[in-house]
Amino acid sequence: MSAEALLPLLKSTFGFDAFRGRQGDVVDRVMAGMHTLAVMPTGAGKSLTYQLPAVAFSGCVVVISPLIALMHDQLRGARAAGIRAASLTSVDADFADTRQAYRDGELDLLYIAPERATGEGFRALLAARPPALFAIDEAHCVSEWGHDFRPDYRLLRPLLDAFPAVPRLALTATADRHTREDILVQLGIPADGLVLAGFDRPNIRYRVTPRISPARQLADFIAANPGPGIVYCPTRDGTERMAARLAGATGRSVAAYHAGLDPERRARVQHDFVASEDGIVTATVAFGMGIDKPDVRFVAHAGLPKSIESYYQETGRAGRDGDPAEALMLWGAEDFARARMRLSELPEARIAGERARLNALAALVETVECRRALLLRHFGEDPPERCGNCDTCLDPPARLDVSVLAQKLLSAVYRTGQSFGAGHVEAVLTGKRDERVAARGHDKLSVFGIVEGEEARLIKPLVRTLVAREALDTTEHGGLMLGRAARPLLKGEAPVLMAEPPVKRTRRERGGGA
Ligand code: ADP
Ligand code: ZN
Repeated sequence: MSAEALLPLLKSTFGFDAFRGRQGDVVDRVMAGMHTLAVMPTGAGKSLTYQLPAVAFSGCVVVISPLIALMHDQLRGARAAGIRAASLTSVDADFADTRQAYRDGELDLLYIAPERATGEGFRALLAARPPALFAIDEAHCVSEWGHDFRPDYRLLRPLLDAFPAVPRLALTATADRHTREDILVQLGIPADGLVLAGFDRPNIRYRVTPRISPARQLADFIAANPGPGIVYCPTRDGTERMAARLAGATGRSVAAYHAGLDPERRARVQHDFVASEDGIVTATVAFGMGIDKPDVRFVAHAGLPKSIESYYQETGRAGRDGDPAEALMLWGAEDFARARMRLSELPEARIAGERARLNALAALVETVECRRALLLRHFGEDPPERCGNCDTCLDPPARLDVSVLAQKLLSAVYRTGQSFGAGHVEAVLTGKRDERVAARGHDKLSVFGIVEGEEARLIKPLVRTLVAREALDTTEHGGLMLGRAARPLLKGEAPVLMAEPPVKRTRRERGGGA
């Protein structure tokens, strides 16, 4: 049965007149019994792609889902639509009844957590009556490349393979190319089983700018944006300090929100925000999930988000009503330095993934090209070169051709033995004969002092650009080495363009503390 043939059922069960985005393509594949990975942004309507087949199939759809809270939300929704749905979790008292209902073929949908799904008991239950479909929600959890790896997801494969005739539908909102490929392999889905839905949010205007004086920059931004908005801050303390400063500077109502506040307080901030027409919340990333407020007019980041995926998700809370909305990110070189330091504290298996994530973020902040195009390419789309609604499109930065400087820098990294940090390489390039340079004899190298005057200020930003382009790699201890994209640059085969770096203002110019 095709998706189109299910339109009457879509209407009668869910009240929808049509499929949205690529839902129809996913449902088509599921109904044809094909394995599928659906990558769709949050809010695209992923659950419908297995809930509708659950109604259409005579058998039961087994949904593997990592969070009990999430499961119970879904369960309520499904039941409200008249679907016979149940869950098997540690907090469900009607365990035996649910198993019996499954055995008797009285369930359309069964939600279960991965750790229980992989157990012997569950496999035996399925053996008695194979399911019509395995839906694997939050499928990025199966990948070590993903940002939320869960070992239990790795154990799903034997279960899936034990029922080779049962189609698989993996679903996720956040999978970059690496993670996607990994999900396909891990769950045994063919490469042509990928269905990727539109990630573009054309009404959101993206701006990414160096952090110079954050409270002032944010106050100016807020002054230009009278509607409700969220300011994400990296720390709990930060949310409280920022709330006070922004309230003082803008005269608007600003509340802080973080996981350290008591539950009543959090509920109130959230409630007031949802009800308000101009409220501002300064928050850690704990804020936003499950908040239904379509008219959020701006989302700002006072510091670097965790990944492009988080950035997309967090900024995606703006403008869900389709009206124009703004996203502003303030970042500093120190954000990257700190994040790179933390890499070494991670388990070995996760370092490569986290480093790639960080490089992708660096590419987003360093680019002189369209931000939206970069974001969409990250999610596997093939967007137009320019969107016309981001800072680099609206106000193209002065581009510096730093190809020759990049060659000098890469040579210096190579000649100093690919183990020193940016500071040392800079000292060598600018001819600073400090103790370390002299002790290593690096003042005798041909690259010593080949960068002069004005150009010296470009070295540090260029290091970040080259790391983002993977022409440089960083060692665990912050040392630089040549990366896989170094060769064409060294040979002058590809140009290196960079935005003019910002001029750091001194404390006095800013008029006091930061
Ligand atoms: P996701 O899991 O992808 O984040 P959900 O499955 O929670 O998204 O769906 C998001 C919202 O979209 C829900 O309110 C759902 O009812 C609605 N929705 C899903 N499919 C359709 C459709 N075809 N037409 C209209 N609304 C839809
Ligand atoms: Zn653009």
